[in-house]
Amino acid sequence: MFENLSDRLSGVFDRLTKQGALSEDDVKTALREVRVALLEADVSLPVARDFVKAVQEKATGQAVTKSVTPGQQVVKIVHDELKHVLEGDGEPGALKIDNPPAPILMVGLQGSGKTTTTGKLAKRLTEKEGKRVLMASLDIYRPAAMDQLAVLGMQIGVDTLPIVKGESAVQIAKRAKTQASLGGYDVVLLDTAGRLQIDQTLMQEVEDVRDAVQPRETLLVVDGLTGQVAVEVAEEFDGKIGISGVVLTRMDGDGRGGAALSMRAVTGKPIKFVGAGEKMDALETFEPDRIAGRILGMGDIVALVEKAQDTIEAEQAEKMMRRFQKGQFNMNDLKGQLEQMLKMGGMEGMMSMMPGMGKMAKEVEKAGFDDRVLKQQIAMIQSMTKKERAAPQILQASRKKRIAAGSGMEVSDLNKLLKMHRQMADMMKKMGKGGMMKKAMAAMM
Ligand code: GDP
Repeated sequence: MFENLSDRLSGVFDRLTKQGALSEDDVKTALREVRVALLEADVSLPVARDFVKAVQEKATGQAVTKSVTPGQQVVKIVHDELKHVLEGDGEPGALKIDNPPAPILMVGLQGSGKTTTTGKLAKRLTEKEGKRVLMASLDIYRPAAMDQLAVLGMQIGVDTLPIVKGESAVQIAKRAKTQASLGGYDVVLLDTAGRLQIDQTLMQEVEDVRDAVQPRETLLVVDGLTGQVAVEVAEEFDGKIGISGVVLTRMDGDGRGGAALSMRAVTGKPIKFVGAGEKMDALETFEPDRIAGRILGMGDIVALVEKAQDTIEAEQAEKMMRRFQKGQFNMNDLKGQLEQMLKMGGMEGMMSMMPGMGKMAKEVEKAGFDDRVLKQQIAMIQSMTKKERAAPQILQASRKKRIAAGSGMEVSDLNKLLKMHRQMADMMKKMGKGGMMKKAMAAMM
C-alpha cells in the first residue's frame, strides 16, 4: 500500500539506527531525506514541511532514553508524527448511524470507486455490525449504474431500492428514506451520480439531495492513486456540500500514498476507510496507528522505545517520590513538574481532566495562568545557577535581580514563583508523612 514511501524511509532510518551517537547533523540529513521521500510520495509541500519541522523540534528537545539508540528514538518520533498527521477524532471507521434509518450519502467523481465502495460498506455494516442496510442508486443519467448497484446488492445479499423510471435524484432519495423507515432498515446508503469532473450541476444536485434527506454521514470516495488531486477534490466537495469523511480507494495499487498523508492536514476531514481491491470485502478501517506502522515498517523499534520510555518514566517517578517523601523538593523538581504540566496541555488541560475541576479551568484561563505563565516560570528557573536551583533559600536581592533580568521577568514574578515552590514543598512533606504521596502519585500516573 505504501511500499515506495516505506522503502525510502526504512533506508533512511536503517542508516540512522545503526549509529550509536547521533549528531544534530545526522538528524538533519535524515530529515532532509524524509522530506524528499514525502514529496516523492506526492504529499503536499506544506504538509511535508510541517512534518519535518515537528520531528526536528521533538528530536532536539528530547532526553535520550537509556537502552535505545538515538536513531531508534528518532524512528519513534517520526512514527508518532505520522500517526498524528493521519489521525482524526474519535474511533477509526466509526459512523454516526445510531438513529435508524440513518442516511449515508456517498459522493465523488465518476470512476472513483463510489458504487463499489457503497457495496463494500453495505456488506461490512451488514456482516460486521449486524445492521439492516438498504442501498439506492441516484444516478439517473446512467441506467447502467443503477443496474450495477442492483447486481452488487444481489451478490452481497443486501437490498436495493426498486428502480422506478423517470424520478429525479431527490425523489429517489426521499423514497429510499421512506422505504427504509417502513421496512425497518438501520442504514440507507445513497449512491449519488458522479461526473468526470466537478461541475455546478452535479454539486447542485448533491446539495438538493443532502437538504432533502439530511444525511448522518457524507462520505467522499476518492481515488488514492491520484495523489494531491484527490486532496483537491476533497477540498472542493467539502467546500460545496460539506463532507464528514473520506474513503480512499485503489490503495492496493503501487500508488504513492501521499493523499493519505495530506488529506487530514489539508482538508481537516478524516479518512474513514481505504479500498484495497475490487472484491467486496476489500475495505479496511483506516487506523492511523497501524497505517503509520505500515508506512514506516519499523514496528519493532517503535515498541522497543515505548517500553524503554515507560520504564524510565516509572523509574523517575519512583525516585522523585522517595525524594519528596524526605521533604526534598528543589527548583529542579519544580521545573520538572511545570514541564510535565505543559506537556499535559497546561493547567487548563490538566484541570479539565480532573473531575469537578472543569469550571476552575475556565477561571484559570481568565486569570491568565496559562501555558505562557508556565513557560515564564520555567524560564526563570532556567536562569538560576545549579546551586540556586538546589537551594533556593540562598536567593537574595542581587541574585533575584539577575535571574529576573535573565528571563525577561520582574522580581515580583520571581517572588511569586518562590512562594509557590515553598508551598508545594510544604505540601509534599506533609503528604509524604501521611502516606498520601503514594496515592497522589498513583493517581497522576
Ligand atoms: P464509480 O464510477 O465511482 O461508481 O466507480 P466504480 O465503483 O464503478 O469503480 C470503478 C472501477 O474501479 C471498478 O472496476 C472497480 O472494480 C474499481 N475499484 C473500486 N475500488 C477499488 C479499489 O479499492 N481497488 C481497486 N484495485 N479497484 C477498485
